[in-house]
Amino acid sequence: MRPISAMLPEELAGALPGAPAYRGRQIFDWIHRRLVFDFAEMSNLPDSLRRDLAERFMPVSLEEQDRIRDADGTVKFRFRLGDGNTVESVVLQDRRGRRSACLSTQVGCAMGCLFCRTGYLGLRRDLNAHEIADQFLLLRSFVRRQGLRSEGNPPRSGDLSGVVFMGMGEPLANLDNLLQAIEVLDCGGFSQRRMTVSTCGLVEGIRSLSSRKSMVRLAISLISADSEVRNRLMPVNRSNPLSELRRALLDYQAALGKRITLEIVLMAGINDRPEDVEALVSFVRGPDARQPLKVLVNLIPWNPLPEFPYKRPEAGRVEWFRQRIEQARIPVTTRVSRGSAVCGACGQLGQITPSG
Ligand code: SF4
Repeated sequence: MRPISAMLPEELAGALPGAPAYRGRQIFDWIHRRLVFDFAEMSNLPDSLRRDLAERFMPVSLEEQDRIRDADGTVKFRFRLGDGNTVESVVLQDRRGRRSACLSTQVGCAMGCLFCRTGYLGLRRDLNAHEIADQFLLLRSFVRRQGLRSEGNPPRSGDLSGVVFMGMGEPLANLDNLLQAIEVLDCGGFSQRRMTVSTCGLVEGIRSLSSRKSMVRLAISLISADSEVRNRLMPVNRSNPLSELRRALLDYQAALGKRITLEIVLMAGINDRPEDVEALVSFVRGPDARQPLKVLVNLIPWNPLPEFPYKRPEAGRVEWFRQRIEQARIPVTTRVSRGSAVCGACGQLGQITPSG
């Protein structure tokens, strides 16, 4: 059976010889706008076509295996892929009740960041575009149909407000499938401007986003702008050093004019030192302060995990770090970590071992 969630209306039409071209758009709209995944319910299609579709195509191919809900409103899903591997996706809810979907792009990850659970799985394989799109469709359907309940708040209905490609895997290492999924989601009415791609800093991938004029937002998991610290924690820094990363970000901003988010997971004694503040400020300002990057720095205090030696800095230290960045006139926020009780916060996916 052929998965079709990453096919555009014209591609769907092309897969239905003999059917009028508008059937492609109708099927696409049922799946992507109405979130109907059963051909039998697609009431404006002839019976014979519905039967034919059910025999040949799968609207979504992922199967939900597990769901864990945190008291703060976060819900983590584990989905089984056709080959038996599994991936995780998370619905996050912020303090204002807005919900976003955190999607995976690979089974495991080859980047080996030392602070990341997914990195320890290694890379099993890239996700296909339809497997990325399926996560979005299933999470959006969940949010629309059932709403979320968080402590002290009534269940909510509504919709996703954003998508972050920040789950398992390095999105820019699976660029073609990622971009195909983004195009299909956008065509289904969920604008690229509401999507964020988070990368550990793959320079070539960032340059591809610039040259394609992609309108998604870009976030860099920077961790530290001190080369020594970054080399130690993120092997990617050896092949994509900070100087080249900075040049690629400058070119990205010149091409697209968009602000970039720099994510810093703060670990006590590792990357919360005065040297880390200094390195960050000069990374943002540039060597001669003439070509500053337009950024928002997002501080994320470490979410403790039993198998890692890192510690969350004291709240006072986090605030000290934040103020030093603010004093340098760099926009900065501290993110309240959501979902740590279900291991759905940054760097905490991958606890459930793929079964393939
Ligand atoms: S932080 Fe991202 S890039 Fe690094 S190992 Fe984890 S999933 Fe891969």
